[in-house]
Amino acid sequence: MSWFKKSFTGTLLLAAVIALAACGKSEPASGSVGQGPEVDDGVRTISITGNDQMQFNVTTIRAQAGEPIRISFTNIGRMPKQAMGHNWVLFEPMSTAELNAIGNASANNPPEYLPADMSKVIAHTRILGPGEREIIEFDVPSNPGEYPFLCTFPGHPALMRGVLIVE
Ligand code: ZN
Repeated sequence: MSWFKKSFTGTLLLAAVIALAACGKSEPASGSVGQGPEVDDGVRTISITGNDQMQFNVTTIRAQAGEPIRISFTNIGRMPKQAMGHNWVLFEPMSTAELNAIGNASANNPPEYLPADMSKVIAHTRILGPGEREIIEFDVPSNPGEYPFLCTFPGHPALMRGVLIVE
């Protein structure tokens, strides 16, 4: 009886391992992070980088109201994510004082450093480490105006900022 039980358990374990392997295989590739090919489907792609000097390479983006847009954001730095992570967060129009406040509050909210109240956030990436890329897609707001964007990693909001001008 005992040999049978042992063998039966072994078979079950093996089956479980196979199921697990199959499950892992069938999982869709994320596609949004890494060096994957950029799609050419007519949606305008804005490529933005963040570096170890806490700089975005693009600080002004112009777009048409309601236009679908794709942001391809890459951390081109080499420093570890814990010391120099970057994200790209687009906010509703607000005063500089409000932006400073929301930037500081976000930077104090690990691990993703987003505001607790997301009502002013239009679109955002995750915090990316060195060499990582995330591509996000959204419709530009339908109201013309100046929509600020920040990197909200601690210490970065004051330096890593720009504006999406909706015309
Ligand atoms: Zn940053």
